[in-house]
Amino acid sequence: MSAAPAIQIDTTCPYCGVGCGVSATVDTQQQLAAVSGSSNHPANLGRLCVKGSALHETMGEHGRLLHPQINGCRTDWNTAIDVVAAGFSDIIKRHGPNAVSFYLSGQLLTEDYYVANKLMKGFIGSGNVDTNSRLCMASAVASYKRAFGTDAVPCCYEDLECCDLLIMVGSNAAWTHPVLYQRISAAKALRPQMKVVVLDPRRTASCEFADLHLALAPGSDGFIFSGLLRYLHDKGRTDSDYIDHYTEGFESALASTGCLDSTAAAAGIDAAELEEFYRWFARTEKTITFYSQGVNQSATGTDKCNAIINCHLATGRIGKRGMGPFSITGQPNAMGGREVGGLANQLAAHMDFNPDNVERLARFWDSDTVAAQPGLKAVELFNALERGEIKAIWIMATNPVVSLPDSNRISAALKNCELVVVSDCIEKTDTTQYAHVLLPAAGWGEKDGTVTNSERCISRQRALMPPLGEARADWWIISAVARKMGFVQQFDYPNAASVFREHARLSGFENDAEGQQRLFNINPLATITDDQYLNLTPIQWPITEQAGRLSGTDRLFSDNKFYTPSGKARFVTVQAELPQRNTTLPWVINTGRIRDQWHTMTRTARSPRLLNHIDAPFVALHPGDASSLGIQTGDLLRLHNTQGAVVLQAVLDAGQRPGEVYAPVHWNDQYASDGRISKLIPSVVDPHSGQPQSKYAELALQKIPVLCWLQVISRDPLDVSEFDYWVKIPVAGGCRYILAIAGPATVDNSLQLIKNWLQKHTTALEKIEFTNTGTHDYRGLFCQGDIIQLAAFAGTDRDLLPDTQQLVQLLEHKIGTDSWKLLNGSRDKSASGRLICSCHQVSERSIVAAINEGAITCTELGRKLRCGTNCGSCIPELEQLLRTANSAVAATIDTDPTPC
Ligand code: SF4
Repeated sequence: MSAAPAIQIDTTCPYCGVGCGVSATVDTQQQLAAVSGSSNHPANLGRLCVKGSALHETMGEHGRLLHPQINGCRTDWNTAIDVVAAGFSDIIKRHGPNAVSFYLSGQLLTEDYYVANKLMKGFIGSGNVDTNSRLCMASAVASYKRAFGTDAVPCCYEDLECCDLLIMVGSNAAWTHPVLYQRISAAKALRPQMKVVVLDPRRTASCEFADLHLALAPGSDGFIFSGLLRYLHDKGRTDSDYIDHYTEGFESALASTGCLDSTAAAAGIDAAELEEFYRWFARTEKTITFYSQGVNQSATGTDKCNAIINCHLATGRIGKRGMGPFSITGQPNAMGGREVGGLANQLAAHMDFNPDNVERLARFWDSDTVAAQPGLKAVELFNALERGEIKAIWIMATNPVVSLPDSNRISAALKNCELVVVSDCIEKTDTTQYAHVLLPAAGWGEKDGTVTNSERCISRQRALMPPLGEARADWWIISAVARKMGFVQQFDYPNAASVFREHARLSGFENDAEGQQRLFNINPLATITDDQYLNLTPIQWPITEQAGRLSGTDRLFSDNKFYTPSGKARFVTVQAELPQRNTTLPWVINTGRIRDQWHTMTRTARSPRLLNHIDAPFVALHPGDASSLGIQTGDLLRLHNTQGAVVLQAVLDAGQRPGEVYAPVHWNDQYASDGRISKLIPSVVDPHSGQPQSKYAELALQKIPVLCWLQVISRDPLDVSEFDYWVKIPVAGGCRYILAIAGPATVDNSLQLIKNWLQKHTTALEKIEFTNTGTHDYRGLFCQGDIIQLAAFAGTDRDLLPDTQQLVQLLEHKIGTDSWKLLNGSRDKSASGRLICSCHQVSERSIVAAINEGAITCTELGRKLRCGTNCGSCIPELEQLLRTANSAVAATIDTDPTPC
């Protein structure tokens, strides 16, 4: 029994760029007992989404990397650090500094990021330090720099609530940034006149509260905003005073825009609907354009971002309450990485690579080896690794074999690399298998430092407990290697606070407030004590101090001063383009996240609750397409192109555009036989930002005929590699598997194959089995005494196999006289099925039944079933079910998102 809760610690969620404050309850055994949303954190004001609210379910030793390893063998820290330092030093000596590289992560804390960048760019003397944030928001960064002369998000979260028109472009915030979506949804419920427009090729959960959804052609966003600039001009709705005084380049930008009809044609949407959107934009002063990976992850992502910014500059809607272009980051600390030079083309403290800045850093760090040239961006960096030009890579807190495009090539490049070092908190990932040296990093709840969210708010991520095993903070590991490489004094940090102070001091170094050299400035925090650091409360940069009082900044550019040579904002002339078609393959795929998983699942898959919503990798396609190909829900489809192939379960979704499919990015080789979607994505990047076009690939697809399906629940992990298709789903007390056998076996011998496989895994167990050769049905219970260790159900019709919940309950059941009943398996699935509300375990079937019995609002469903009453992440899906199942009363749907 766990001890009584002892202390509350305020920290920050490690997932998305909303950066919610988390109030953690740590018991007297130093275990995380519970989490709730911090009511005093400005990002979430007490809310948490389903991922954040399951944080305490993701802790524990299982699967953690607990000790340093060299070539798979446990070693001690001294040896591991010696080997890494000697390995890097030797390669630098033989091949120069550009033969080594770091690949970092938006999951790192700012202090970790700062030290890594300082070592590579400041002392090794190479720019080859890039980050997985390149995949997330590099195009937004490049566009801000082109327009404002500095990488700065002008808005704050409050603007999303107080605007009168919110345009969501390429963002399914209901699933990717749920707490912001809830804030917006609550604001719209209070002010129904606030209009919401969603621009997305798919109809997503975020469309549920939208007044208008434009299902534009993939990648056509640039046309929409370019056309908008023309419309604003032609209708006399630009702010000529603002354009004349505070901007430059308007005429040139205008010259490259198209008319409404050509824009609608390029985007594949109805011209009248497009005009309706344009009219709303033209007449609504308080307009926010909120955009995310759907815009950024494109070969023309930077231009698209600038097309958006152009419209805000043309109307002077920037730096004021409720208006502005607002890019939202995917990762918890993408913004912190930008602050310290985590991107290969930046120096620290928002300095560009130019001789003055290089000299400035050399003075600050007292180094004569500061890199003078940008390094290689993520895709270029791995290309150089593949060519053998980079001979050592240190990967920290990220899983590039899953997340980078064309990932079969990433695997091959790592396999051939002379020295691969990986710091991670998880032992087995698709990337750690290639590491010569594995370094155990502290995980969330053990790390101590700061993160910066999408509204520039710096928050503390606090340690709740000591690191497990021999895990260490990343800044500690990097500093230890740096000292071993000879940089003893420069990396002699006693704690995270000392790193933060240096980072803050650098932000103010030769950064004259009057001269406005660099906007990023947190210098007032350079002298905080360890205690003040411990108790630091959230604050938005830039930070100023007056009479000992610190002030953050909610909105930027309110003074109409920009960081360009002229001090004016720049319109950028963009040429809108659709993704280039490179093959004749018939299908186009879009990729993205799902509601309950995060990145490559290394943390979220540790919570069985988070796999209840969607448990297997899928591909969504339009029902019309499916019907013409004879595809039904649950069928296995093979998607392939020249990069690779994946096998996914079909989901029919009327929100898909015909000819286009959608698949989530999370699954990897640890959880599915062929679910790693990055295998299909070519390495096409934006020329300005280097960000990969992860949302577009061309492919072919075929249905795979399945001879036999097998559902297994087991207390111990199983080797399922001999099956044609498998998905592993962690559950409380074990693992559930979905397995399939395709040809060339026959149905008869596939049952025999299953029995042979079971025999190998159950030799010491008693068994109760039943086979119906007529219906090709098999069921088996494998027990130790009265405890079920493994249960297996096979058949040709997957729908006739036991339901997920029934399988999971078998691990709680003791064998008695009812064993035949258990074996028979109740097929009454009325109370189970796909779970919509993860918090209260409420299934789609129960919700539909309640709607059929008369529930017509989310509030009524909440009262009846409790769904939607905790974190609120499922509310858009409840609304969707209400709309679908009861269209007659859809108009009266209660959009109040407040948990009952
Ligand atoms: Fe975490 Fe959810 Fe908040 Fe994102 S919205 S920071 S995932 S709690």
